[in-house]
Amino acid sequence: MCKELRTWMVLSLVGALLCGPATWAQQQPDWSKVQIKTTKVSGNIYMLEGQGGNIAASVGEDGIVIVDDQFAPLAEKIQAALKDLKITDKPVRFVINTHYHGDHTGGNVPFNNAGSTLIAHDNVRKRLETGGTAGNGGSITSGHTDGDSIIFFPKNNVVHMGDDFVRYGFPFIDVASGGSVQGMIDAMEKATAQLPPDVKVIPGHGALSNLDDVRAFTKMLKETSAVVQKAINDHKTLEQMKQEKILAPWAKWKGDFVNEDTFIETLYNSLTNHKGEFMKHN
Ligand SMILES: [Zn+2]
Repeated sequence: MCKELRTWMVLSLVGALLCGPATWAQQQPDWSKVQIKTTKVSGNIYMLEGQGGNIAASVGEDGIVIVDDQFAPLAEKIQAALKDLKITDKPVRFVINTHYHGDHTGGNVPFNNAGSTLIAHDNVRKRLETGGTAGNGGSITSGHTDGDSIIFFPKNNVVHMGDDFVRYGFPFIDVASGGSVQGMIDAMEKATAQLPPDVKVIPGHGALSNLDDVRAFTKMLKETSAVVQKAINDHKTLEQMKQEKILAPWAKWKGDFVNEDTFIETLYNSLTNHKGEFMKHN
């Protein structure tokens, strides 16, 4: 078990895919300058921001559980930030991964070495083992990837959405790794229907949110995918869709990471089940 776990963790270093706006490959950050900002969300749940995906931490006297762990070089700073809360000296007992991308799982190795147990969807392990390159044809329930988890803390009424919900504009959807726009819409609609209306929402990336923000995001996904689906039905090519700027009415969602053209391409690939070469992730 232990050997298996170690193997998984070592292989996680191979997983270079990132899903946030500042990607490793573009510009490796100066880790020494990254500061971990801690925000109390509710009760004993905190949100930690540094570089990469948001972290949720449930900090109790008996120990700590974190959701996602950013990058390996930040693990010591994350541990220090948790200690600074002065609630417990106990270590991080469990790390839950929302999905396999490197900006959410990069800290798995140091946290595991320090004794944390790692918990994730089975497909997270599979993808970390294979370096994240294998596609599966969309046969498994899928959202941002085919191994997403949404983590709800019922006592404190806080949810961590992973990258099924992000605040940087049009989202990156990892279609090559079994993700799909329909999967994201389904996941968000199910979550919105089941969660308490006043739940506090930690997005995969960006500021603390609420269910209205999730609904606006889901509405955009539904509208934009319907427009691209109609264009596909009308036998338009991808190039025509870009030239006609069919997502112009949703331009306010465009970001540095995913612009209108790349989002048209993402939706086209998702809706046509195309798993080949498409949006470069770095
Ligand atoms: Zn991601």
